[in-house]
Amino acid sequence: MNKKLIFVLLLIVIIGVSTTFLLKGNKNSDFLSTDIYSMNTIIQIKISGRDKEAATEAIINEIYFLNGKFDDFSQVSDVSRINNNAGKNPVKVDKATIDIISKAIDCYKITNGAFNISIAPISELWGFKENVYKVPSESEIKQTLNFVNMNDIIILGDKVLLKKIEEAIDLGGVAKGYTLDKIKEILPNYNLKSVIINMGGNILIYGDPERSSWLIGIKNPRGDGIIGKITIKGSKFISTSGDYERFFIENGKRYCHIIDPSTGYPSDKIISVTVISEKGYFGDALSTAFFVLGKEKSLELAKTLNVEIIGFDENLTPFSTERIKKDLSFEEG
Ligand code: AMP
Ligand code: MG
Repeated sequence: MNKKLIFVLLLIVIIGVSTTFLLKGNKNSDFLSTDIYSMNTIIQIKISGRDKEAATEAIINEIYFLNGKFDDFSQVSDVSRINNNAGKNPVKVDKATIDIISKAIDCYKITNGAFNISIAPISELWGFKENVYKVPSESEIKQTLNFVNMNDIIILGDKVLLKKIEEAIDLGGVAKGYTLDKIKEILPNYNLKSVIINMGGNILIYGDPERSSWLIGIKNPRGDGIIGKITIKGSKFISTSGDYERFFIENGKRYCHIIDPSTGYPSDKIISVTVISEKGYFGDALSTAFFVLGKEKSLELAKTLNVEIIGFDENLTPFSTERIKKDLSFEEG
């Protein structure tokens, strides 16, 4: 069997950029490897097959295009224009922006509110937007939670309106997975053997399940190296959310970038969760939501939604759905 080893390493960067590396790629020299920086992370594209050059170019164009729509740091992106016009005007946006927001609304419903793109004002209050971290007062949190409301995201044809001026959206929990879906849609236009795209904790693997099998490493959330490995065949999306990607520590307590919308506080029920799914946007949104929901609720919901998950609690004790167990192995110690 053509077995290839990928180690996924999410760098601990307190200043705010989360990065994923393929430490040890496949040794097959047939692969064209390209790294770009976009979507606030290093993106690694590895492709084999006759049309690898043309496919790489098309993938990069797709990433830059979607980043131009979703990036809330760029003032001209769709997301920034929606946020800057909150409480005022509906904003005409690209159809991809309508699509991702509609999907985010579905994910909000499916996860009982754990996935919530209207969380942006709270993330900003904690300093996760500008990376100037602080623990807000309870009254500030309570006040700001008034402006976290998915029902205030109004889609009017090709326009989007947020009802209140204080409201904002943040697609950070779903944009990478959604972009991987869009990339997967264009891959059949090219003659390719295998594709691996590693985008800051979200991975697309694409290829013939009979001919390739991949070993994906799960980063140790509390140390260097990996804590476990998953064997995956065929085309899949693998998405990880963890409290080591962006966080700060105050008075010995860790506060991470994933917020529980029901409290306005960073979630701390588990420290990492990986989702294997058939859709990139779904796996991405779900890994964020499962991080908020914690072990029991996530296992229950994963079963209903037919996705596989593997997570770790604060003692680094793993939990996973039943079907994935046969494909998992853990590192000693
Ligand atoms: P991920 O790494 O995919 O789990 O996404 C984390 C990012 O999603 C954060 O940096 C925020 O931009 C955003 N976010 C934080 N909390 C939530 C939440 N409860 N629902 C949706 N997005 C969130
Ligand atoms: Mg996510």
